[in-house]
Amino acid sequence: MGFYLGIDFGTSGARGVVVDEVGIVQQRVLYPFEMSPGVDLTNVWQMALFNLLEQISGELRREIKAIAINGTSSTVLLCDAVGNPVDAPLLYNDGRGAVVMDRLKSAAPPNHTVLSTTSSLAKLLWMSQQAFFTQAKYFLHQADWLAFLLHGRLGISDYHNALKLGYDVEALQYPEWLEKLQISIHLPKVVIPGSAIGELRPEIAAKYNLPKDCLVCAGTTDSIAAFLASGAQSPGEAVTSVGSTLVLKLLSRTRVEDVRYGIYSHRLGDLWLTGGASNTGGAVLRQFFTKAELENLSQEIDASQASALDYYPLLKPGDRFPINDPNLPPRLEPRPDNPVEFLHGLLESIARIEARGYELLQELGADKLTRVYTAGGGAANDTWTAIRGRYLKVPVMPSVNTEAAYGTALLAMRGMKE
Ligand code: ADP
Repeated sequence: MGFYLGIDFGTSGARGVVVDEVGIVQQRVLYPFEMSPGVDLTNVWQMALFNLLEQISGELRREIKAIAINGTSSTVLLCDAVGNPVDAPLLYNDGRGAVVMDRLKSAAPPNHTVLSTTSSLAKLLWMSQQAFFTQAKYFLHQADWLAFLLHGRLGISDYHNALKLGYDVEALQYPEWLEKLQISIHLPKVVIPGSAIGELRPEIAAKYNLPKDCLVCAGTTDSIAAFLASGAQSPGEAVTSVGSTLVLKLLSRTRVEDVRYGIYSHRLGDLWLTGGASNTGGAVLRQFFTKAELENLSQEIDASQASALDYYPLLKPGDRFPINDPNLPPRLEPRPDNPVEFLHGLLESIARIEARGYELLQELGADKLTRVYTAGGGAANDTWTAIRGRYLKVPVMPSVNTEAAYGTALLAMRGMKE
């Protein structure tokens, strides 16, 4: 029997999931940490990684064939010639890149994914202006660096992490405009997510009783890992995350990009994972109802009946997808006295926005929607699922699994089978 280990580095901790040859979970391990300012993050990540390995039972560990790691997208760092970080990493949501936007705009094509203050490339440009940059040899994403700790090879990334660095995932090369920025750093060589990079460093295999020939695979990002976990795999299959916000992802044979709506596509083998994110979602529900009220009141709603209330639930003005209007006002009137009716209107309106989102993706060229998996806090609400099914007109079901670490374990497994 062979096992596969997926490791997810999220915002509140690291998780590991071990699966067998058919994807059944054998063990879950967790190492919580805080990404608070002042903490030596790379040190914490390193401790987390090795602590997770230690927590895995000896029996499983002995037969792990491959390991892959996902990090948070656009969490990046610089390191020296032997892989030691030269400064603290910049986290996914760090907006320091704002000061280099003019330079970036003059180099990158209009509307490119890198033109965001939090993109990996914006962060790299900011770093290139700092004193510590002279000590740096490699620019890596969080997942690249953590994998390096296991396989010992520097300067390798995958095309999911590298998308926001400007890597051309269609031509599979760095574009000319990026070379013209002349950043004196070793940009990572980009490989297919899940592909084998190399065997574990012998000292790590020995110390943790892992097989000498256990492979370390190229990783991915957290949100793609969660998609891989969902069960969606054919064109037309989608995953909606109904969390604080509403995030849509649709698997398609065509690549869809439209910066006006914040729509872009990740490459997934021969397919494209396209999607967009709306500011509507569960956070607005929590403004009016407790979790218990959401559960109880939902049971009183007749999901087969359409509500006449037409809202656009937002916490504050502005949305981008499926309506691009930075000033779009929240629409939450009229508010009926009966809380069941009010909640019905809210759930129904969010479902309408979700359906409009998928319609927009299809209008822009994505494959026809055939099935929607659901992740996030709202996935457990059967009434809402029924309402959403009425608008989406395709089967709606919970994701098979919602853990990024599980998706990354599957990535390690499939990478080996290809
Ligand atoms: P996040 O996006 O912050 O990770 P979660 O995926 O944990 O959020 O989902 C939390 C959201 O799920 C909350 O905003 C809440 O409104 C929503 N939620 C939780 N339980 C229910 C429920 N029974 N019905 C509808 N929405 C729910």
